[in-house]
Amino acid sequence: MRILVTGGAGFIGSNFIRHYLHRYPETNLINVDLLTYAGNLANTEGFTAYPGYRFLHADINDRDKLEPYFAAGLDAVINFAAESHVDRSIDAPQVFARTNINGTLNLLCLARHYEVKRFLQISTDEVYGALGPEGLFTEESPLAPNSPYAASKAGADLLAMAFYKTYGLPVIITRCSNNYGPYQFPEKLIPLTIINAVRGEPVPIYGDGQQVRDWIHVADHCQALERVLLAGQPGTVYNIGARCERTNLEVVRLILKLLGKPEDLIRFVADRPGHDRRYGVAVGKIRSELGWEARIGFEDGLAQTVKWYLKQQAWWEAILSGEYKDYYQRNYGFR
Ligand code: NAD
Repeated sequence: MRILVTGGAGFIGSNFIRHYLHRYPETNLINVDLLTYAGNLANTEGFTAYPGYRFLHADINDRDKLEPYFAAGLDAVINFAAESHVDRSIDAPQVFARTNINGTLNLLCLARHYEVKRFLQISTDEVYGALGPEGLFTEESPLAPNSPYAASKAGADLLAMAFYKTYGLPVIITRCSNNYGPYQFPEKLIPLTIINAVRGEPVPIYGDGQQVRDWIHVADHCQALERVLLAGQPGTVYNIGARCERTNLEVVRLILKLLGKPEDLIRFVADRPGHDRRYGVAVGKIRSELGWEARIGFEDGLAQTVKWYLKQQAWWEAILSGEYKDYYQRNYGFR
């Protein structure tokens, strides 16, 4: 297989490449990443040991740089590259449209032109909007995104499906719930809580902390993506999730417990505007069609993740000293 993966220096993309090369070491795999604040070559450590791996520093909007790789023939494109943080999309939505919508469109055009055999668009359950206390999103739920991030991902999903319907490009969309695990950038809830707690610093929680998220370990997500890549039905959507709903406050309390830290580190801060109350995805389709199910329980997965961050202090300390410091101060109003 010759595969082009975008965003492979980010959290999920790098976990996916590690998983995939371990399983299929002979793969020719091109990792295209712009190395934005969220991209980190330290996440790709060890990849160059695989003879078919190659990194290309490029924007997914850059047709000229990408074209030769498409022209050489590709079995699959897997598009992880995105601006991925809801808070940042509230501050500066334009770059979300540029990367998530225009960048995806550029990849779709190249894929169509060079007849790529499979185009996997990595999307999110956030495109469905928010749920009340009951019910789950299915693949048929209408798209009703609330944040600029979610709206930009929904736009990309619509374009991707239009390329299937209009041009017959074999597109598959996956919509996964909230991921956690190694190499997640410290701005997201779980790594942020672990790192702040380890440093004895306040742990911010938006609003009342009762927002519900459906958590999945990134390793389970990567397994699911492998299955979809190899056996998924083009022109369709697969939800991916582990049916593990927890409030943000429950997650934070569990991390503090795992670290033996006091709950008085918690600081409730002003809620994020338009904060979705609850997400939850039905996963019956991927289970029945592709036989995939999540395997990692939340408590075990979280304990493993906490251990990883404790061991990888140098990894996150390098990040904390950069642009992230100013962002954190701006967002939460304290250090
Ligand atoms: P991330 O922010 O950790 O990584 C994104 C990567 O994309 C970075 O390496 C960044 O450098 C790269 N990138 C950004 N703009 C680019 C551009 N214009 N050209 C090339 N590369 C660019 O994100 P993540 O959490 O790993 O998410 C990966 C994908 O999965 C995203 O599409 C996201 O919407 C989706 N997703 C994430 C979650 C989650 O919980 N993190 C859940 C469901 C879906």
